[in-house]
Amino acid sequence: MQILHPFAGSVQQYTEQLANPDCYRPGHCPQCQTKHPLTAHGFYTRTLIDTAFDGIIRVRRYLCQACQRTVSLLPEFVLPYLRSGLAMIALFLIARRLHEKTLHCASSTAPSSMPYQRGQFWIRRFCAQAEGLCAALAALTQPIAAPDFVHRALAMLESTGWIAAHRFLFAGLRCHLLGWPRGLAPDGRRAAFSSAGAPA
Ligand SMILES: [Zn+2]
Repeated sequence: MQILHPFAGSVQQYTEQLANPDCYRPGHCPQCQTKHPLTAHGFYTRTLIDTAFDGIIRVRRYLCQACQRTVSLLPEFVLPYLRSGLAMIALFLIARRLHEKTLHCASSTAPSSMPYQRGQFWIRRFCAQAEGLCAALAALTQPIAAPDFVHRALAMLESTGWIAAHRFLFAGLRCHLLGWPRGLAPDGRRAAFSSAGAPA
């Protein structure tokens, strides 16, 4: 199971904080609710492509001694199962759908290695989510007049802040900003005893 590492800052600052397992050690198990602090259980690595970073990051894992399941602490600047960072996805969606830039122009917000199909994939998933996002984000910000749910959801995300919205959706509602991959719907949990997977 993945939960959020309550951290906002640069990738560099995140990496420095990872050295200390006590820094954000969960005090209880979010899966079986046992009240014992979890045991540090190494890391897994994942790729991250973001506006100012392209490489591998480590994600800390903890083990619950009671249920023997792992919990990984995902930094808030990434979305589960996506290689690209939240800032890069946000920039692309805003450029393409709020400012109506061409696909080519919107893709130029990303590192040049990004295939435009990746942006189309984000847009498809975001559009499918937009109505639900508007409803969920109404808890954080006033609904904004807009011609459709996609524009309204983008405007509400801009007003809330993408990381704050992601934190609320993921930690509070187990909702993925771009929608969970089909196999993990509705709440992103895998079946018991499997560890967090690599990003798609
Ligand atoms: Zn447990």
